[in-house]
Amino acid sequence: MDAEVKVLEEKLAEERGVLNSLKESLKRLDDRLTADRATVAAADKQRNDFHIDVRTMSQQIEHSREKLNRSRTERETNAAQRELEELRKLIRDREDEMTRLDNDTSAIRTAVEAAETEHKQVNEELAAKAGDIQAKLSKLEADKSERGGGRGAIVKRLPTVLYRRYELLRGKRGTAIAQTSDGICNKCNMALPPQLYHRIRREPLIEQCQSCNRIIYFVSTTEATKVD
Ligand SMILES: [Zn+2]
Repeated sequence: MDAEVKVLEEKLAEERGVLNSLKESLKRLDDRLTADRATVAAADKQRNDFHIDVRTMSQQIEHSREKLNRSRTERETNAAQRELEELRKLIRDREDEMTRLDNDTSAIRTAVEAAETEHKQVNEELAAKAGDIQAKLSKLEADKSERGGGRGAIVKRLPTVLYRRYELLRGKRGTAIAQTSDGICNKCNMALPPQLYHRIRREPLIEQCQSCNRIIYFVSTTEATKVD
């Protein structure tokens, strides 16, 4: 009974470890996403600024065209044409900048999308695992109290000396009970003194292994079970 609860608790601790490592990878993803999103947002803002520039300059181009149409002298025509060319060049520059920005950030945008997908998956896994562990924890608590009730009843039937010895050994060795079916203690693998072995084999006695001190009893090979 105590061994079963111990195994369950160890298993739960293991699963909590899995839960924690999932939480850590989620945290790493979060950090990376935050940084990448900031990069993309900065690029978007700059792109937007360029876009506004292009719009303003397009309006200026319209203005220069009107000037060109209205020009009466060669000087006025030349000035308007220069203005037009200058503006066209500025627009081209901005458009090049935007293309460069798009190229620079496309990999990051892809990475953000992939990280978002992964984030969602890890989150789902985490939620499922947390629910699973919570259910197991509740079951363990229920088991423990159920077993605890049964345990309390058994303890009352045990001689105090024996129970104290059991608890002492359990605290020291993890398990307090050993079996033998061939004269070897199944916990420490040491041979029992022949006299002791013959005694516990003949009568249903409770003895202690002289090597590991565990409470030991005899089981025939056919009924030998793995009892911790
Ligand atoms: Zn032993």
